[in-house]
Amino acid sequence: MDLVFLGPPGAGKGTQANLIAKRYGIPQVSTGEMLRAAVKAQTPMGVLAKQYMDSGALVPDEVVVGIVGERLALDDCRAGFILDGFPRTVAQADALKGILGGLGRSIRHVISFEVDANLLLERITGRRVCRLCGRAHHLVFDPPREVGVCDECGGELYQRDDDQAETMRRRLDVYDEQTAPLKRYYLEEQLLRRVDALGQIGDVQQSIVSILESLQG
Ligand code: AMP
Repeated sequence: MDLVFLGPPGAGKGTQANLIAKRYGIPQVSTGEMLRAAVKAQTPMGVLAKQYMDSGALVPDEVVVGIVGERLALDDCRAGFILDGFPRTVAQADALKGILGGLGRSIRHVISFEVDANLLLERITGRRVCRLCGRAHHLVFDPPREVGVCDECGGELYQRDDDQAETMRRRLDVYDEQTAPLKRYYLEEQLLRRVDALGQIGDVQQSIVSILESLQG
């Protein structure tokens, strides 16, 4: 089950990837999370990536492709994986094909999160992420049981620097310019499965499960 979750920031990819990964016992491979971990650890890659991330720009393809290549080769990806936030450019999609080809595999489904662009800003600016486990909550749509505390692990919730309104606008522009063309790319490869991502978390999850199960056999 080699999957890509594709969609703009704030569409709920990470939330759904987390749920679907648990359901099928496969890892969620989030390039954003891996980059944030590198920034926190102040590795050379993290120091480089931070400059791009803070401004809402994409980290250079070769950096991200390198970390994904290493991650997908690990044992826990053998039965499948969910790529969350990768690929984000056509060059990354081409590189992914090469990486998987080298492992004798290929992407099965690209789940495309379809949302009204006007709602994304509200979704993102209300987002609060756990410092410990990375689980995202939303102040309105998915509030934690206790203010400022992660439901999952009790860690502290915070607002990501790049979730502030101004950086967010830039990230949405970057998505339109560099990532949205991947929809056509995967449509042509007959891998694109569209999901209405505006509903409740449970409903969106159900739509994804139905797609995966109906296309499985
Ligand atoms: P995310 O958590 O997926 O919203 O990613 C946060 C930030 O990390 C993005 O705004 C980019 O700066 C960087 N990033 C994450 N994934 C990628 C990727 N596939 N290519 C380039 N930059 C990325």
